[in-house]
Amino acid sequence: MHDKRILLSSPHMGGEEINQIQNAFDLNWIAPVGPHIKNFELELSKIHHKKHVAALQSGTSAIHLALNLLGVCESDIVLCQSFTFIGSVNPIKYLNATPVFIDSEVQTWNICPEALESAIKKYIKIGKRPKAIIVVNLYGMPCKIHDILNLSKKYDIPIIEDAAESLGSKIENTFCGSFGHFGILSFNGNKIITTSGGGAIISSNHKLIEKAKFLATQAKENCDHYEHKEIGFNYRISNISAAIGIGQLEVLDKWIKLRRDNYNFYFNLLSSIDGVSFQEEPDGFFSNRWLTSILIDELKFKNINSNILRKKLESNNIESRPLWKPMHLQPLFKECDFIGSKISNKIYEKGLCLPSGSNLSTKEKERIENVLSDFFNLK
Ligand SMILES: *Cc1c(COP(=O)(O)O)cnc(C)c1O
Repeated sequence: MHDKRILLSSPHMGGEEINQIQNAFDLNWIAPVGPHIKNFELELSKIHHKKHVAALQSGTSAIHLALNLLGVCESDIVLCQSFTFIGSVNPIKYLNATPVFIDSEVQTWNICPEALESAIKKYIKIGKRPKAIIVVNLYGMPCKIHDILNLSKKYDIPIIEDAAESLGSKIENTFCGSFGHFGILSFNGNKIITTSGGGAIISSNHKLIEKAKFLATQAKENCDHYEHKEIGFNYRISNISAAIGIGQLEVLDKWIKLRRDNYNFYFNLLSSIDGVSFQEEPDGFFSNRWLTSILIDELKFKNINSNILRKKLESNNIESRPLWKPMHLQPLFKECDFIGSKISNKIYEKGLCLPSGSNLSTKEKERIENVLSDFFNLK
């Protein structure tokens, strides 16, 4: 018998989404900007300490707008965590600015504050004060944002917090996406909740979020006719997508609990193996555990590494994925500067993302457990 494929992270609807879509249809709010967008933004704002929110087409468009609003332009330096998904970085290039990539630290796998400060000093010294810093909360784990905020203050450089993977994660009682000058979210298909495609930009500055909405709707001036004074974009989320988002937010806490259960499942199974390690939650940190990822230290084993495990899972029709390949290793960015000691290279080489959907069933976990037990000789 052929076992059904187990996916890494697939959309998981709670049930209310379809009612919200039906409601939008009943009101004939199929057109781009309708009341569901406003409600969706209101719910997002509640999570993010009443900050202001604009819902957009994608996380990538949110970063593009954030950079725009910070006045980033041609030849400006933008410091960015190297270990991330390309969506964090492409918008820097849309503006013809220059990314400089910063290494990770070993605990959270996110941007290393020491390497960041070295980069800031290096560029200030040559008269090129960085225009912005983009930090990422990889796989749901908050970065060491308090150290980063101190540097941001000390050198007066604003922060864009890419919280695309960390909706619902927090440090103490502050939610990710609320720390930076701008926070950005993504509701792409594989994220912890999805609107089938979407994103958001967050700020405590009401005027900047109003400006984001303006830029996201072709920068149309407030006149009876079509008047334009600056370049805009078609970046607003659709009303139907926002309707899905309202339903998804109702189950966010439940889905986070299920993702954290997945993490505990893998941790209980594998953490005692010498040579296998996990992304650690520092004191006071709370990760939504979007994707559980492990590091396999090849030197501790005979003929075992993350790639061999990936193939073994694949042969059992179970999807797993390599970690994001750091940006300083990408052919696209081979001319770019990188500051750090290649910690992200090592994490990337050893890492593997395991199936982590909130819809993973007990049966599916049993299948995964069997393969992992066999692979690591746990029986
Ligand atoms: C998904 C993701 C993005 C981009 O979001 P989209 O909605 O897919 O454009 C940006 N940064 C990170 C870290 C992501 O995981």
